[in-house]
Amino acid sequence: MASFELTEEYQDLSDSVREFADEVVAPVSTKHDEEHSFPYEVVKQMGEMGLFGLPFPEEFGGMGGDYFALALALEQLGRVDQSVAITLEAGVSLGAMPVYRFGTQAQKEHWLPQLTSAEALAGFGLTEPEAGSDAGGTKTNARLEDVGDAKNWVINGNKEFITNSGTDITRLVTVTAVTGQHERHDGSIKKEISTILVPTDTPGFTAEKAYNKVGWNASDTHPLTLKNVRVPEENLLGVRGRGYANFLSILDEGRIAIAALATGAAQGCVDLSVKYAKERMAFGQNIGKYQAIQFKIARMQARAHTARLAYYDAAARMLAGKPFKTEAAIAKMVAGEAAMDNARDATQVFGGYGFINEFTVARHYRDSKILEVGEGTTEVQLMLIARELGL
Ligand SMILES: Cc1cc2nc3c(=O)[nH]c(=O)nc-3n(C[C@H](O)[C@H](O)[C@H](O)COP(=O)(O)OP(=O)(O)OC[C@H]3O[C@@H](n4cnc5c(N)ncnc54)[C@H](O)[C@@H]3O)c2cc1C
Repeated sequence: MASFELTEEYQDLSDSVREFADEVVAPVSTKHDEEHSFPYEVVKQMGEMGLFGLPFPEEFGGMGGDYFALALALEQLGRVDQSVAITLEAGVSLGAMPVYRFGTQAQKEHWLPQLTSAEALAGFGLTEPEAGSDAGGTKTNARLEDVGDAKNWVINGNKEFITNSGTDITRLVTVTAVTGQHERHDGSIKKEISTILVPTDTPGFTAEKAYNKVGWNASDTHPLTLKNVRVPEENLLGVRGRGYANFLSILDEGRIAIAALATGAAQGCVDLSVKYAKERMAFGQNIGKYQAIQFKIARMQARAHTARLAYYDAAARMLAGKPFKTEAAIAKMVAGEAAMDNARDATQVFGGYGFINEFTVARHYRDSKILEVGEGTTEVQLMLIARELGL
């Protein structure tokens, strides 16, 4: 039976990110949340620590670590500030990873060093106004146009909810687009979906006004407009027509990362509740002496622990080269629900203070809901699990 005990190297990484989260991230979290401002200074320091390069080889400016190392870092950041954690998660898993997994050597050499150092950020534009869970409904299109001896992609369409797409340091958004169509044997039409690299300074690319979100206020999220955006044919990422399939595999990995972030949020709610329950007095004693409060917090701890085991298991399978799609879906769903349930219970433990935005549990309450929606809703995870069961 394998153990889930961390090796010394993983433990050291987790400890150092924990210290960074407590000493550097937490003190400015409320300010950025209230101002809805992007934490540039924190991201810069995370870049210097190598966090954006954790799962990439050194030749591209990475740390030579693996996806589990990234997950451990996300858990520690998610504990104190989900906006900062999702900035890292999206920057690595949606921004840099598609280039690393599917890019040519030239694309990797051009983009990865700036992304792994966090000098630049990249986003991934899959979701559209009428294509979310059903991302096959993509309407954004790209056609090839002759320019002398060369060819350009001309891209038109709209993307919705794209993380890291409009910061001052965003340089790239990879978009899915319909590049053709094929007739199936039964006469129905199948869209050919490809992924294309779009530098954000390309004329016709616009990151529209940032959303006013319920939570993740310090994370950068915009709708995008692409109007006659012209990029060279070589900006195709991976094989033409494999864009949708490639992105689904990126999402499988991403679910482990989101599960780790959510586990951190769930654990953060436990830690804060234990501390508060030992301090807060009611009816002559600490509220932590009441079994109703003890049981609530004990249940929260069970959720955080279960979520952690679920993402450790999915990550272990992934690193061993085994199938992990279902386990990643389970981890994402269990951890997302643990974060939301724990945030609700933590605000209850905090009473009226839990409803005051400057309290971290209140921020977790607003931030955690999206963990049941982003990178695949709970219903999408259930669809994946049911499909694996042959249903
Ligand atoms: C803050 C934030 C950041 C995001 N970042 C990114 C990003 O960087 N890149 C990106 O591409 N996208 C991003 N997204 C989009 C996110 O992934 C989508 O919102 C999510 O996948 C759901 O899609 P939708 O919003 O279109 O909802 P819909 O797909 O319209 O779903 C609506 C509801 O119907 C349910 N539903 C749909 N189909 C079924 C079904 N077959 N059976 C049962 N129930 C179903 C869903 O579960 C959901 O409850 C982000 C979203 C947010 C809010």
